[in-house]
Amino acid sequence: MKIDGHTHSHFCPHGSGEHVEKLIERAIELGFDEYHITEHPPLPESFLKDLVPLEAVPTITFHENETDDYIKEMLYVKNKYKDKITIKVGFEIDFLPDHTQWTKQFLNDYGKYCDTGLVSVHFLKGISGWRCVDYDAKDTAEGLVSYYGNPEKFQLSYYDMVIESINADLGINKPTRIGHMTLCNKFKTFIGIETSTVIDEKVDGILKLIKNKQYSLDYNTAGLFKPYCGETYPLNNIVQKAIKMGIPFMYGSDAHGVEDVGRGYDVFQSSMKHV
Ligand SMILES: [Zn+2]
Ligand SMILES: [Zn+2]
Repeated sequence: MKIDGHTHSHFCPHGSGEHVEKLIERAIELGFDEYHITEHPPLPESFLKDLVPLEAVPTITFHENETDDYIKEMLYVKNKYKDKITIKVGFEIDFLPDHTQWTKQFLNDYGKYCDTGLVSVHFLKGISGWRCVDYDAKDTAEGLVSYYGNPEKFQLSYYDMVIESINADLGINKPTRIGHMTLCNKFKTFIGIETSTVIDEKVDGILKLIKNKQYSLDYNTAGLFKPYCGETYPLNNIVQKAIKMGIPFMYGSDAHGVEDVGRGYDVFQSSMKHV
């Protein structure tokens, strides 16, 4: 089964704007059997007011009042293409530690329409408020890394948030696949991120937790194509450890446009074979 388990649509304001049907047609062309549309859900207003920099805010996701349209449109394409490809629909849920009740309610309301999903950490507390980990290299360096003190402490804070996201009670519809668990490496060479024993131990702890909870991991290839990253999330040595522990992976291109669909699938395949 060839699956792309993590993609976005024209509902995403930071994507290419290309219609989801164009991405689906590309997936069919590439021989995918299954295609998961996992859009960023809206964010609570009470969180958005604490988010900086202000220019990032409108690029993050669609407004709450568009959620019904997203679901309707994705269920329509799911049916339209059902003879050519299996489409699953859901969300890449943002973990927001101060808004778990809101997220739980969202999942209670929309979970019944979803048959896939992920939980991802995109935000950390930083200078002047909450900030995106993956918005802009300079912004991450100045607003987050300097807030935590150094690249290692920044990474540890990211991983602590991942741990919190795995342990969080988001109700029965909580997705059990963790999105890009090493997203803190997106601007790796810009920030000067290096691994260390402390980081390795933290990551091992996350893997144990995922194993105990019977969760799975997103094998996200987007980082391979980012100029300051050049590696998958998580990177191969973590992937190999996880496979040995029996943690399941699902490939995800994290496509935000047609040309991203299926990217790095060959890397995923050879990574899965290495064990
Ligand atoms: Zn993401
Ligand atoms: Zn994504």
